[in-house]
Amino acid sequence: MIDKRPAVIARCAITPDVVRGVNFARDNGLLLAVRGGGHNIAGSAVCDDGLVIDLSRMKAARVDPGRRRVAIEGGATLADLDAATQAHGLATPVGINSTTGVAGLTLGGGFGWLSRKYGMTIDNLDSAEVVTAAGQVVRASATEHPDLFWALRGGGGNLGVVTRFEFRLHPVGPDVLSGLIVYPISEAKPVLQQYREFLAKAPEELTVWTVLRQAPPLPFLPERVHGQEIVVLALIYAGDPKQGAPLIEPLRRFGTALGEHVGVQPYAAWQQAFDPLLTAGARNYWKSHNFSTLADGLFDAVIAAVGTLPSPQCEIIIAALGGATARPAPASAAYGHRDTKFVMNVHGRWEDPADDKLGIGWARDFFSAAAPFATGGAYVNFLTADEGDRVRSAYGPNYDRLAQVKRTYDPNNLFRMNQNIEPA
Ligand SMILES: Cc1cc2nc3c(=O)[nH]c(=O)nc-3n(C[C@H](O)[C@H](O)[C@H](O)COP(=O)(O)OP(=O)(O)OC[C@H]3O[C@@H](n4cnc5c(N)ncnc54)[C@H](O)[C@@H]3O)c2cc1C
Repeated sequence: MIDKRPAVIARCAITPDVVRGVNFARDNGLLLAVRGGGHNIAGSAVCDDGLVIDLSRMKAARVDPGRRRVAIEGGATLADLDAATQAHGLATPVGINSTTGVAGLTLGGGFGWLSRKYGMTIDNLDSAEVVTAAGQVVRASATEHPDLFWALRGGGGNLGVVTRFEFRLHPVGPDVLSGLIVYPISEAKPVLQQYREFLAKAPEELTVWTVLRQAPPLPFLPERVHGQEIVVLALIYAGDPKQGAPLIEPLRRFGTALGEHVGVQPYAAWQQAFDPLLTAGARNYWKSHNFSTLADGLFDAVIAAVGTLPSPQCEIIIAALGGATARPAPASAAYGHRDTKFVMNVHGRWEDPADDKLGIGWARDFFSAAAPFATGGAYVNFLTADEGDRVRSAYGPNYDRLAQVKRTYDPNNLFRMNQNIEPA
């Protein structure tokens, strides 16, 4: 669905290449796009007729196991990050598909399987090397350019090109207890209700997300279930698997499971478990809401939407946050939704352009049906190209400060191929 034709693609190898690219675009009045992992469904990593700074060759990572830090370049994917850090039994919380770019994910906030225990990705960011609109290379941290550091943690690609991130690391795995437990859609309501009660009391090491969709042909499910609507509990215990095993037992008693695939496996493998669902070339239209609680009315709306899935690839995911993600003050970084306990993502996904209207319509209808139960906030990394009007909701009271910082570092809005913050 993203079909743009840039005039020039600058395949940068080192930070000075990025500086030349930024200077060239600015001095020649060219539209400028920045590609990290190229994953964002809004398609903002590319532009028509302008210059794309492509960072996909800049993936180097250096781990300091003694200090528990990793420095990683701005074009790395989550797979690159996990591979480098897991070699030392360390990790930092990132998203759940390993092909996602570290840069875009981090700059919007970033959350995944480890976030309840260790916070958002931005909560683990120590510093960033940034090429500003003026072509200067600056380091942003709590003590250097602190205003820029505040804005980078949620402000997306609005402030400059990040060529290097430095993250704090935590001992994780390398083997973790993780996997899937699958229930039929006929049991979805009691399963979701029990999930809500269970998670409210679960330790922060234990994270469970729910996925509602048609069953893919997974070998651990009986063949008669393939293609049937299901509700999946996807879980990870980010601690000693022996301690986690008894804690996940109740999840098996939420109903009559159709099958399960739970065991001790490498954390890096679990980080890639959902990648096979993301075959290249599909058409995508997503919608998302934040929730502070999960209401019964929301469950009814979810179950109704799963009854009208327009394609076997569409799904509704409820991601659990809370825990460490809720501890920082909302004004401590540009990302401020610290009261968000759940983020629901409606993945409209199909192959044939003739199905665009059907797929987009389904996602929008369900988004409206779920809206009464949501906080009204939004996660900037899940916004589509046509949701510019939700950017203010993505920042709430932090928006004005973000616009001030934007004015300092990018007064002419050179970096505007993103969910854009206009300079104050
Ligand atoms: C299948 C899928 C699963 C996802 N799962 C999760 C998840 O579990 N958790 C989560 O938090 N998010 C998740 N996301 C959302 C993801 O965080 C965003 O799509 C994110 O923007 C991807 O980053 P990227 O670098 O790959 O994207 P890109 O498309 O390359 O870039 C996204 C935006 O960031 C800017 N940008 C990219 N690199 C840089 C850089 N180095 N410096 C400055 N600006 C830059 C771009 O200009 C663009 O505006 C998921 C997305 C998809 C498609």
